Amino acid sequence: MNTLQQAQFWQKLGIATIPIRYKDKRPELKSWQEFQKRLPTNTELTKWFSGPFHNIGVVVGWQNLVVIDFDSDTEYARWQLWIARRPVYRWIRQTLQIKTARGAHVYVTTAQPAWNAKLPGIDIKAVGGYVLAPPSVHPSGVEYTVLAGNLPVRIEALSDVLPAELLAAHTQLPETKKVVSPVMLTLAAADDPWERANQLFEPDCDLIEHIKQRYRIEDFFTRLVPKNDRWTMTNCPFHDDKSPSMWVDTERQICGCFVGCTPQPYDVIDLYARLHNLSVQDAIKVMARLL
Ligand SMILES: [Zn+2]
Repeated sequence: MNTLQQAQFWQKLGIATIPIRYKDKRPELKSWQEFQKRLPTNTELTKWFSGPFHNIGVVVGWQNLVVIDFDSDTEYARWQLWIARRPVYRWIRQTLQIKTARGAHVYVTTAQPAWNAKLPGIDIKAVGGYVLAPPSVHPSGVEYTVLAGNLPVRIEALSDVLPAELLAAHTQLPETKKVVSPVMLTLAAADDPWERANQLFEPDCDLIEHIKQRYRIEDFFTRLVPKNDRWTMTNCPFHDDKSPSMWVDTERQICGCFVGCTPQPYDVIDLYARLHNLSVQDAIKVMARLL
């Protein structure tokens, strides 16, 4: 496929692309950011990508698209060994994987919008950016090519495909969100979270109750505006919230967003999971380790 056909392919998936200077990583457009909010028109795509000398950028966040950027072949190879032992491998081996100049990109979409994170050797690109995609040419002359798959596979959360404790420790919550997580982890150097992620256990109901008693939902928010004994309001961490739209029910220990960011009320485990790109099952495992 040429660059225009690639752009049309992404457009059909509901994912925006932008023109990037040839053999460069910089956009050709001054205000490419508007394509985080609207898809380009077919006329724009034709105008941008006709002719041979353009790179193409795929804007992350559309359809909850996340690109996992392994910064070296070594990191990517380690991940491949790790993921091959996980149940999700049956699907994930079919997901779109791209050879980059020094490592690889793995494309997935998640059930809920994810945050950016910087794990050692791995950059999670989930919001506010773009990645170069085939048939772009890196400044070094290396062409981006497909290693495997053709479409991003949908997963529940990033902890399906990366160690939950690494994600919990390295999620980069936006400054403006004003959310503090009382259970931020510091990993001991001797502990290998890639190894530990394979030591699975099944949480039981007692454990879940124990977690819920240990963590108070109001402790996750720094700016709570009390309405009465039981209800408080706060800024929603999941959208650009100018006026507080998140209600917190301290008696029932649940919260929710009036604008609709939370498909159902969140308890403390749902909230921790969403804040750190974890599935609910993986959030329980991480929180249980901190009891
Ligand atoms: Zn919200």
